Amino acid sequence: MDYGFTEQQQEIVNLARAIAQKKIRPVREHYDQTEEFPWPIVEELRKVGLFGVYLPEEVDGLGGGNLELVLAAEELSKACGGIALCVATSSLCALPILLYGSPELRKKYLPDLATGKKLGAFNITEPGAGSDATATKATAVLQGDHYVVNGIKNFCSTGKDADTYVIFATTNPNRGARGISAFVVEKGTPGFTFGKKEEKMGIRANGTYELVFQNCKIPKENLIYKEGYGLFIAQLTFDYSRPGVAAQAIGIAQGALDETMSYIRQRKQFGQSISSFQAIQHMMADCATQIEAGRALLYATVRAMDASNGPAIRKAMEENKVVADCMNELDTKRWTKESGMVKVFCSDTAMRVATDCVQMCGGIGYMRDFPVEKYMRDAKITQIYEGTNQIQRNEIAMMMIKEAASKSKKDLVAA
Ligand SMILES: Cc1cc2nc3c(=O)[nH]c(=O)nc-3n(C[C@H](O)[C@H](O)[C@H](O)COP(=O)(O)OP(=O)(O)OC[C@H]3O[C@@H](n4cnc5c(N)ncnc54)[C@H](O)[C@@H]3O)c2cc1C
Repeated sequence: MDYGFTEQQQEIVNLARAIAQKKIRPVREHYDQTEEFPWPIVEELRKVGLFGVYLPEEVDGLGGGNLELVLAAEELSKACGGIALCVATSSLCALPILLYGSPELRKKYLPDLATGKKLGAFNITEPGAGSDATATKATAVLQGDHYVVNGIKNFCSTGKDADTYVIFATTNPNRGARGISAFVVEKGTPGFTFGKKEEKMGIRANGTYELVFQNCKIPKENLIYKEGYGLFIAQLTFDYSRPGVAAQAIGIAQGALDETMSYIRQRKQFGQSISSFQAIQHMMADCATQIEAGRALLYATVRAMDASNGPAIRKAMEENKVVADCMNELDTKRWTKESGMVKVFCSDTAMRVATDCVQMCGGIGYMRDFPVEKYMRDAKITQIYEGTNQIQRNEIAMMMIKEAASKSKKDLVAA
């Protein structure tokens, strides 16, 4: 389907597609098996500037928006969702700095994340605080010019291989959710080390690590925005980033279907190609329909988000202000419901499509030396991270109830 991309958006698709097909596809099995970090691919992505497609030119990005980011993520994920993840985690680190960081913090950290010179990671999860981030136990105590951070964060994607981390810790345990704050931490800061590396089902080209903080001193300028704003920062970041997970999911689903189509056209049983059986054709048709529906929802959502967020981002750059403050000044819409919807729809689609692709390929689909089972393993995480799909549904329903309440209040006033 023609989605009417600009020349620059089409160029991003072409660049990402070329790297995915020529560079990632031939090596994805190696990285899946060895769990090594794919540095040669990172180098390719750096060369063409794919890390910063969504960041403003003022911080060395390409000046695009969320649509540009999801286009890159989708194309890369068609070849390998695990390798593509390094772009997504860098954006997950850059976004809180872009949205809530001071102009100084933006200038200090975003250019290197935009060019890919440095990789980023984001860690809110803790062993006791998964879906419930309000249970954060890591602490950050202000002592003079520094915050002293203690605690364990876990399940950090691009864990050991990033350079810049956005982490969350409580600056006031008595205030619960309102006591959590967000910080930028650099790798190599004394007291910041790496713990356990997880052994995973999928996205194995991207290491998932525990981050350990023991009396780690972070300059107080590295607090993002203000103390106690951590969960607001995380929420606005996720509103922006969940479509990226959806893009990863759509890429994985399309990649699985493409591999399946090549196989089922040449595989013969009962003297004919298995793609001539109606049972297989209906599965193919359902997979393609669900993928296209997800893609259409994804592009429509991020286009609307870009149109709404763009003016606040531009205002903040021009007037040297914080983007979130400009969003408040301009009364910019919040996208929690829509970004949750697109994440739920596309990730559920990816899991269904990848599972059906294994089914269409039969026994070979289940084998490690055939690429389709990897898509199924990689698809699963898209239903879990950046908030499980149960949590997304909770948030969608909560927003629906709020909207209905405010509508009936307005109706009452009008009547
Ligand atoms: C491979 C991988 C990479 C990750 N990368 C990162 C990362 O880079 N940074 C980071 O911060 N985190 C990361 N995570 C963490 C991820 O975001 C969490 O795993 C996820 O949010 C779920 O938390 P949990 O695992 O503690 O599950 P739990 O919160 O223990 O949930 C378990 C089950 O209970 C359900 N559940 C929980 N609460 C509710 C509720 N209120 N209503 C209905 N159902 C509920 C969940 O949906 C789930 O099905 C990663 C996780 C994995 C597996």
